[in-house]
Amino acid sequence: MLRLWPCAGTTARPPLGWAATTLRRRLLTQAEPSCHRRLGRDQRRGSRNTPQLAERTTTTTATSSSSSSSLGKPPATRDHAFSSFAFAFDIDGVLYRGGQAIPGAREMLRSIRRKDIRYVFLTNGGGTHETAKADSLAKRLGLSPDEEDVVRDRVILSHTPMRGWADEVKQQTVLVTGSHPETARRIANEYGFSRAVTPADLIHANDKLYPFDNLKETLHAEFRPLPDGKSAAGAPADPYSRDLLAADALKIDKILVWNDPRDWSLDIQVIHDLLVSRGGHLGTVSDRNGDRSLPNNGWQQDGQPELWISNLDLVWKTEFPVNRFGTGAFVAALQGVWAAVTNGGAELQYQALGKPSRFTYEYAHARLVRDHAVGSTSTSGSESRGKDTTAPPIKRVYMIGDNPESDIRGANEFRPEDGTEWVSVLVRTGVWRQTAAEKGPRYKPAVIVDDVVDAIVWALRNEGVDGASRDWLLEGGQ
Ligand SMILES: [Mg+2]
Repeated sequence: MLRLWPCAGTTARPPLGWAATTLRRRLLTQAEPSCHRRLGRDQRRGSRNTPQLAERTTTTTATSSSSSSSLGKPPATRDHAFSSFAFAFDIDGVLYRGGQAIPGAREMLRSIRRKDIRYVFLTNGGGTHETAKADSLAKRLGLSPDEEDVVRDRVILSHTPMRGWADEVKQQTVLVTGSHPETARRIANEYGFSRAVTPADLIHANDKLYPFDNLKETLHAEFRPLPDGKSAAGAPADPYSRDLLAADALKIDKILVWNDPRDWSLDIQVIHDLLVSRGGHLGTVSDRNGDRSLPNNGWQQDGQPELWISNLDLVWKTEFPVNRFGTGAFVAALQGVWAAVTNGGAELQYQALGKPSRFTYEYAHARLVRDHAVGSTSTSGSESRGKDTTAPPIKRVYMIGDNPESDIRGANEFRPEDGTEWVSVLVRTGVWRQTAAEKGPRYKPAVIVDDVVDAIVWALRNEGVDGASRDWLLEGGQ
């Protein structure tokens, strides 16, 4: 059975070291936020994923764009505190497309930063460091160097939640794959994974592992010796043998797909080899594969490494008119090969991070509460352990995204234990477009708006910020 944690309802948990339990317990002891007069708790809870609401709310788009009457007039608030709500922004297709910023995104961010509204950037992008992504975002938005606090320490990538995994897990030997494996390894090392191996390490440790060497000195040129003096050179003459392996035989404990690779062929080969192996030893094949008396017909039932996928987005938006394939496309290819190898007899078992994973939303939610509470915006989940927080509770978090399958679905399904509502807002600047075949998104947002600026206007008005307008946001929110 496909294990798409946690959206498929499995009880499996990620290897957490850091947890937001203390934080949630504290919030649960505080007063329950009152039902909002504009879009109340019960109303929104009951309306999620209902066509009726999406149909109704799409009509609100035009109102947020019409604002000339409020030009230069500061918006009034009614029983309102800017600290009681927050935003989670997807990046690609929301704040920019390719190298082009969405008009008004920069000014809007300046305005909400000036108001001390809490926000994070919650993207399924990956394969780079959070700081590098923040720098890239600032550059594409045209922010000046002295405005780095607008983006600094707010980026949550698809693999960022791995920062919070338990230390004992981080001591395991993990295979890290991605678009830039050496960069992924350095990030994994910084997260605390001290025994991270790349596919390049493996093909340099065993030149029989992969029969094609045309990329060995280019894409796969960077490699390191295997950790702890381990070797991948030896393999039993009979791959099905259950004889003891050499003491220095490499064992992979987890496979972490950071993002979609550039050499799909090599990564599919190596991941396949590990998933059919005995206990994560390359060059072995489990004799349990195909055993119909075992779960999943014996496949992935012999101590093979867990497979973790950092995001499942099939496509993403660039400046090119047709959507581009993302990590989800690589997973689909891997599933296709797996189906062929197992003759359709087994599901590919894996765990998923990134939107719409609940774990990713839990991580973002805790960051919104914790980091802004202590004045620390560390990207590390572990660094803030045990810190006392005094932030006011967040009543609502607005998830602004362009992808119904990830951004909208994840927000709709997320129910934080502290009672905060996550409200989904879909923008038209990204992957989703209304077509003759698809009148509405499969996962219905609370509202569909033209762009991220309209999204913020809609949210502010929903929070009782009278007079919130595009002009006000674009002129600095003063
Ligand atoms: Mg997007």
